[in-house]
Amino acid sequence: MNPAAYAILNLEAVAHNFQKVREAAPRSKIMAVIKGNGYGHGLLAMAGALPHADAFAVARVDEGIRLRKAGIKNRIVVLEGFTATQELEALLIYQLDALVHSFTQLDIFEQRTERAQIAVWLKMDTGMNRLGFKLHDFHAVYQRLQQCSIIKRPIRLMTHLASADDRQDPMTLVQIERFNSTLQGISGERSIANSAGILGWQHALADWVRPGIMLYGISPFPEQTGEQLGLKPIMALHSRLIAVKPIAQGETVGYAGSWVCEQATRLGVVAIGYGDGYPRYAKVGTPVLINGQRVPLIGRVSMDMITVDLNSLPDAKPGDPVTLWGEGLAVEEIAQWADTIPYTLVCGITQRVRQIDSAWLK
Ligand SMILES: *Cc1c(COP(=O)(O)O)cnc(C)c1O
Repeated sequence: MNPAAYAILNLEAVAHNFQKVREAAPRSKIMAVIKGNGYGHGLLAMAGALPHADAFAVARVDEGIRLRKAGIKNRIVVLEGFTATQELEALLIYQLDALVHSFTQLDIFEQRTERAQIAVWLKMDTGMNRLGFKLHDFHAVYQRLQQCSIIKRPIRLMTHLASADDRQDPMTLVQIERFNSTLQGISGERSIANSAGILGWQHALADWVRPGIMLYGISPFPEQTGEQLGLKPIMALHSRLIAVKPIAQGETVGYAGSWVCEQATRLGVVAIGYGDGYPRYAKVGTPVLINGQRVPLIGRVSMDMITVDLNSLPDAKPGDPVTLWGEGLAVEEIAQWADTIPYTLVCGITQRVRQIDSAWLK
């Protein structure tokens, strides 16, 4: 029997989503972003499903080390680079590419005398105001980096888009223009686009693209689902009904008695909660699929359970299968009901949820 809460990962469909990246950016190399434990899908599972990625991107040094220890040979880019010298040692040992985004890093590089040991991506802050050098510092930083013997040539160049998921927002073109005009006279491969940049902004395609969310079959745009973009969702979250009981008018359900029963209700209890990564702030009415039929969430989400209204499903019984998101119920829709973005839902799946590769089920 399946555990109560489990995620089925259709890893075979990752190749399809990768192909969609190729079609959207046919002349770009692809850096597949698998940080955050592969957006909750499993770091190594995702790396294994993307053998043709020109590079993998992770956020932290630890994630890169895990990939190398698992035998991954592709280029690996650590998006946050390093902070301490110890982390730089790990980047050198495991041959991981580093983002260079701060003067602290530059100072550390300048103290090293070994030759051509590390590949770097120099990050420009074109308006995101997170990591990267300001436009007015960029040329000087580039010159200093050129003098660092430890750095392999050529130096690659990167920026990150802040608002590409809004196709109307003029910020994206402003950022692209800042990046390209600041780079006049500087050669080296360039990278701008995340998934929203790849699918929404032709001018953001450069030598490298950096798809994350679209590889998981999820849309970067709030107004569309991954399926509407021709992507195939990878993760489905399932559980089962564990109790069914009648609730009389006037009774309340769950913590704080926040849901008051207005008419006699057949209540169902499903074994999934925020302890599994189901969103605590999913609103009353959030759809849940039971035996393939939509029913509404009622009451508050607890750590291990949620409650649903089964009035429309008189035959539902304990043991029946439940889908929280997956086929017939897009994770994008659940994200809207929970006032969040689908990234947080898939990333938030906890250790307790058993991950099952759909290929094992065949
Ligand atoms: C996470 C991340 C990406 C991928 O973004 P998606 O929206 O998931 O495609 C690309 N580049 C950088 C720098 C990132 O941090």
